[in-house]
Amino acid sequence: MNHDSKPMDPLEELMLRAYPNPTRAGCPGTEMLRSMAAKTVSRENPVWEHLWKCSPCFGEFVKLRDARAGRERRNQIMIWGALAAILLISVTLGLNRMISSRHSDDLGSKVANRYEAAVFNFEGTAAGEVVRGVEPPPVQSPALQTQRLPATLINLTVYLARGSDDGPYELQFLDTNNNVLASATSKAAIDKGLTSFTAIVDLSKLSPGEYSVRCRKSPDGAWHTSTAIVE
Ligand SMILES: [Zn+2]
Repeated sequence: MNHDSKPMDPLEELMLRAYPNPTRAGCPGTEMLRSMAAKTVSRENPVWEHLWKCSPCFGEFVKLRDARAGRERRNQIMIWGALAAILLISVTLGLNRMISSRHSDDLGSKVANRYEAAVFNFEGTAAGEVVRGVEPPPVQSPALQTQRLPATLINLTVYLARGSDDGPYELQFLDTNNNVLASATSKAAIDKGLTSFTAIVDLSKLSPGEYSVRCRKSPDGAWHTSTAIVE
């Protein structure tokens, strides 16, 4: 009996024999003893007086109290177990998040790599000279002939006509019906006399062919137009 519980208190041992009460006179009953073991009965309650003077009640009380202590120990073990499990889960989640954020960093650099670098030149067009879109300019410098761009997401560096101002610019790709199929805005800067800007342009929806490319200083500069072959 009670192999795993601590050796019995000598006083308790004595109490279990000192006050036999074979007729259980004045005993409060098991439910009251259970409440006492659960410490929900006030120390002022006279029922405690009875406990110290009735060995059968005391024996019952000790059993209920020890059973309760055992349950509490098991509950505590379960609570610690649950806490340990929660800790383990959050550590695992944290690790997963770390791993997946590192993974998405990888994805991020892959996205950056998806932009193909490309260059487009308006350089041969003098600033202020308006080239109308419908008729191609009669004379083109070799640099302006058949500039080719890939039909994909491009990181496009645009060189503007010499003497162009820095500041905001807009860029458009048009089909033969002057529908804008792709556009971008960016801010141009002047470096060593060359005005240029860089913009991400999505040419992935354009079918291979020739397109007008035009550019103007925002919001109402004159359009400069050139031609590109998207392939
Ligand atoms: Zn009793």
